[in-house]
Amino acid sequence: MKIICIGRNYSEHAKELNNDIPSEPVFFMKPDTSLLKPGEDFYFPELTKDLHHEIEIVIKINKVGKHIAEQFAHKYYDEIGLGIDFTARDLQNQCKEKGLPWEKAKAFDHSAPIGKFISKSQLGDLSNINFELKINGEQRQIGNTKDLLFNFDQIIAHISKFITLKVGDLIYTGTPKGVSAVHIGDKLQGFLNGDLFLELDVK
Ligand code: ZN
Repeated sequence: MKIICIGRNYSEHAKELNNDIPSEPVFFMKPDTSLLKPGEDFYFPELTKDLHHEIEIVIKINKVGKHIAEQFAHKYYDEIGLGIDFTARDLQNQCKEKGLPWEKAKAFDHSAPIGKFISKSQLGDLSNINFELKINGEQRQIGNTKDLLFNFDQIIAHISKFITLKVGDLIYTGTPKGVSAVHIGDKLQGFLNGDLFLELDVK
């Protein structure tokens, strides 16, 4: 399986990192070794001094597809969950300054924790999903899919122009504003429409 992440998909987040609003979805990838399954321990990686949380809604691909039309894209995913796109912001800024790829900052081991999934039919209107990240009980990020620049179907149509999507692939759909540093000892909790979907202690 592969993990595809969308960058700059909420305009307020693009602005907080001084990025332009993209005219098409920006995507990058993480390897399967970046996945951290529910209940597995997360250790603060030594490679960074500025590890940022990015809470994101994740969609799970359930059918092989290439060149998927936007109008049929909804048939290619059934389950939705929450994940964190951990980012070594110091390394990412160095890469961006030099115009280099971001993998060092984004694709390291366990940089993609994932929580539980739910059938999308249980979520109702996919263009009005609330999600939230709390750290040590305090609200740090809050988002709603109504603010997505590119919705799930548009993302799938775009990515599948370039890359074949396969069963089990995960798409991290972008983070809302409020990204900041995490520290050893922090407890992260992700909520989807008010329900706890992801929990992680930084060790
Ligand atoms: Zn992200």
